[in-house]
This record gives sequence, structure tokens and C-alpha cells, in this order.
Amino acid sequence: MRLFSKSKLVLFSLLLCILFWFMESFGHYFLLPNIHSVGTSIQPGILRELFSPSAHELYTRISIIVLILVFSIVAQLMLNRQKFFATHDMITTLPNRYLVQKLITDRIKRFDTSKCSHTLVICKPSNLALIRRIISTAEADNLILEIATKMKAQFGDTLLGVWKSDNFVLLLRHELHHHDKFVEQFLKKVSAIFEKPIYVSDFPFHFELTLGACEYQTGYNANVWVKNSYKALSKAFSEALKFSSYNKADDREDQDYLRFIGEFFGALKQNELTLYLQPKVDINTNKTDSFEALSRWNHPNKGLLTPGQYIPKIEERVAILDFARYNIELAFDYFVKLQALNNKNGLSINLSSVNLHDHELTHFIKEKIHQHQIDPEYIHFEITETSFLSNPELAIKTLKSIFKLGFKISLDDFGTGFNSLSYLNKFHVDEIKIDRSFITNIDTNFINQIIVKNMTILAHSIKARVCAEGIETEKEYAFLKSIGCDLGQGYYWSKPKSFQETLDEVT
Ligand code: C2E
Ligand code: MG
Ligand code: MG
Repeated sequence: MRLFSKSKLVLFSLLLCILFWFMESFGHYFLLPNIHSVGTSIQPGILRELFSPSAHELYTRISIIVLILVFSIVAQLMLNRQKFFATHDMITTLPNRYLVQKLITDRIKRFDTSKCSHTLVICKPSNLALIRRIISTAEADNLILEIATKMKAQFGDTLLGVWKSDNFVLLLRHELHHHDKFVEQFLKKVSAIFEKPIYVSDFPFHFELTLGACEYQTGYNANVWVKNSYKALSKAFSEALKFSSYNKADDREDQDYLRFIGEFFGALKQNELTLYLQPKVDINTNKTDSFEALSRWNHPNKGLLTPGQYIPKIEERVAILDFARYNIELAFDYFVKLQALNNKNGLSINLSSVNLHDHELTHFIKEKIHQHQIDPEYIHFEITETSFLSNPELAIKTLKSIFKLGFKISLDDFGTGFNSLSYLNKFHVDEIKIDRSFITNIDTNFINQIIVKNMTILAHSIKARVCAEGIETEKEYAFLKSIGCDLGQGYYWSKPKSFQETLDEVT
């Protein structure tokens, strides 16, 4: 509902202009005779004051009165409009979060929880962000308006409004203890609305909706209820589900997670995180070629933690950016210290996939090269194929800029992804690290023998070195040597060791 549309305003102004023109042109025909007659019969007073002067003055006075009237009408309309949009969304004109909050509060007061249950659902078109990238803002607004209209038509008053312009809030009533059945039916209804595409500039857009639901619990207020529904929504998004219901146990997980993140940032500050070094050995000479730097957390209560216990928890968070910077700085420091002892071994540093989406990473590395005065030629950055899953262009761009600085690139865990081969021609690869899953028991596993043999041929044909990960036995080592593998890494030679232990060994 638009209270005061532009076209109405224009029409209204136009009518006023015609009125003024009419009065100016013909006013004297109608007004003057009356004025003269009125002027003679009416006694002095306000009316006389008003009608006594000349036609021109009279016309001016009437104009002022009309103008004042018009202004007060316009001001009133503007005020109404302002009032309306203080509680309604600009695009959909549905109640906005302030009004929705009030509506929920009012409804809660009227709940009879012994007779039925109530579920709050937040509904969000999951692919709208993507669609927005290819249509204009005005088209996107129209699209949201259309979605809102369809939702309103289907759900009527159960659609309370929007929390943000495309986050629809619905309050639904259903039978007690039938939450799951209700959820199923509701999902069907929602899907039905968007079965057919919505057209924008003749282009059909198919909508996918993601829903988060939370059933009312005694003691909830509007804020808590909406917050919990949002928790369910974000869970649905993160798990790529159509629908998720709020579960109290998730709260505990969230609290634990937040505690963990706080602890992790504290650990970075307190230097509890360190790097262990594991040799990569030249298979032909059996001498250490370089070291791989592997993260460890000296946790004050839990002891020494390995990356599997904390990296997955920080991988999707900004913490992974700080973590990478911390490791690069520490690895450069170790490298300089090793070189000072006349050690010519190189060093490999692991990067997570998200790190290759970090626009500032190359600049940071560049700064650290100067600060530590290191020769990049001896340093490998190990990356895995997952780095290219979400934004391959950006990942490749970052890799190329790292390569330009003089560093070497190593493809870690090679063979475990679906696209291992497709990246070999996208950027320069110096080393391929064949994943441990192909190496374990390779001396007896005929299939793995063929795979690794061919991976080695392939790597050599693009002038990359091959490193076999996780060699544990003499027999595995012997087989890898026989097929011309260049480097090996594994417990057969050494487990990862602290920097101090490594220093003791190399001196
Ligand atoms: P990765 O880079 O493939 O490292 C090799 C992993 O195999 C290491 O596990 C190493 O300790 C283990 N390993 C080496 N030789 C053997 C062996 O003979 N037998 C067995 N069973 N395991 C062996 P770790 O240190 O637990 O690291 C696991 C993964 O965590 C690494 O795999 C790497 O992807 C990641 N990671 C480690 N440090 C960092 C880091 O500083 N930054 C990032 N982003 N990731 C790291
Ligand atoms: Mg690695
Ligand atoms: Mg690996």
C-alpha cells in the first residue's frame, strides 16, 4: 500500500495550477461583482476587511489561504507516510522488525499453550544474493515485492512481516506435539509458491527458500524467539538444508565454539601456537632436503594439540587469516635461524584454502621477506585442491603473485580431490605431494602402485618434483625409490619435532 505516490502528487499539483490559472484569468468575473455588492452591505469587521480591497489584493489573499491549506495537507500526508514507514518496510510495505516485534509480543500474551503450539518461521530466498549480482537494484526491489505479494496471498495474517527486507517472519499455529508433521506440510506449501519462476526482464528466476523455525517455549519473549529462529536459519544455511528447527543443544555448541575462538585468539597472543618440523628426505641420497612446518598448540590444560583438533574449527573464520600470518612469520623466523647455522634446507609452509582468498596475504608476505631478509627460493607454500573450490580465479591470482615473489608452490594431498589433474596447467607447480592414502602398504597394493607410478611420470613431465607422504616402512620406501620418486616424508625417517629438537639435530 503506497500512501502518497509520485503520480498522485503530480496530478494534485497540476490541478492546483489549473485552479490558479482559472482564478487569475476569470476570478474578476465571479468575485468582483460579489465584492462590490458584499462591500456595500456588510458592516466593518473581518469579512469586510477581507473583501473590501481591490480584486488583485483579494486574489493574493485567497491564494495565500489556498497555499496554506495545500501545504498543511501535503505536510500531513508526508507525516503519515513517515509514520507508516517507521513501522513498515520500504520495499514490501509489510510490517518491519519494530512492528513485527510488537505483533509477536501481543500474540504471546494471547497464547493458550495448553491447546496448541506456535512456531515462528523465518523464511529467506537463499539464492537472492546471487540473483542480485545480475539484476539492477530496482529490479531486485520489484522481485522482493513480488515474493512478498505471493507470500501474503498464501499465508495471509500468519505472515507477520519482514525482519530485514527479504527475511519473512511467519507465526504459525499448529496442534500440540505435532511440530514435525507441521513442518513437513508447511514446507510443501512454501515450495508450491515458488514452483513457477518469477520473470524479471523476461528472464525466469527460480527461487529456493531456506527456512529456520523455532517452536514457542514458555518464558520466550519476542527477541529470544526471533533470535532462536535465526539460529535455526543459519544452521540450515551452513548445512545446505531447506529447513532447520531450533534445538537447545545447539546453543551449548555455540557457547563452546565462542569460548574456543576466544581461547584460540588468546593462544595466538600468548604464543602458545608453534610449528613442529618434519624432514622431507631426498629418496636417492637419504639426506634431508627440507622441512615441512606443521602447526601445534601447546594448550595450557589439554597438552599438545595437533592441527586436526583446531584448524577445522577456525577454517571458515577470520581467525584463519591471523593464524596464517602467525605461521608465516614464525616459519620465516625459524628459516633464518636455521640458515644462520649454515643449514641449506628449505622450508614448506601450509596454507588453508581460505588464505588464498585473502587479498592482503601477498602484501604481508612481501613485507616479511624484507623484514627477515629471506630468500624465497627456499620456501614452498603447500596448498590443497580445496583451495580452488569456491573462488578458483582469486585463488589462482594469489598463487601467481606468491610465485612472482620467488616462492615455490607445492600441491599437497595430491590425488584426494576430484580435480587433481585440472590444476596442473593453471599455474606453475614445483612439487606434487602424493597423499598418504596411496602410500600406505604400497609395496603390496598393486592398484596404488600403478596410480603412484603414473603420478610420478606425470609430475616429471611437467618438471615438478614428487614427494611421497607418510612413508612408514622400509618396503614402502624401497618401492618408491624404485619408481623414481624424488622425496619422501614420514615416520620412517622422523615424526614432526619441535624447533629446539630440530636445532639440536642439525648442529
Ligand atoms: P599435511 O600438510 O598433509 O601434513 C602431513 C601430515 O601427515 C601431518 O599431520 C604429519 O604429522 C602427518 N604424517 C607425516 N608422516 C606421517 C606418517 O608416516 N604416518 C602418519 N600416520 N602421519 C604422518 P599433522 O601435523 O597432524 O597435520 C595435519 C594437516 O594439518 C596437515 O596435513 C595440513 O593440511 C594441516 N596443517 C598442519 N599445519 C598447518 C599449518 O600451519 N597451516 C595450515 N593451514 N594447515 C596446517
Ligand atoms: Mg602439507
Ligand atoms: Mg599432505
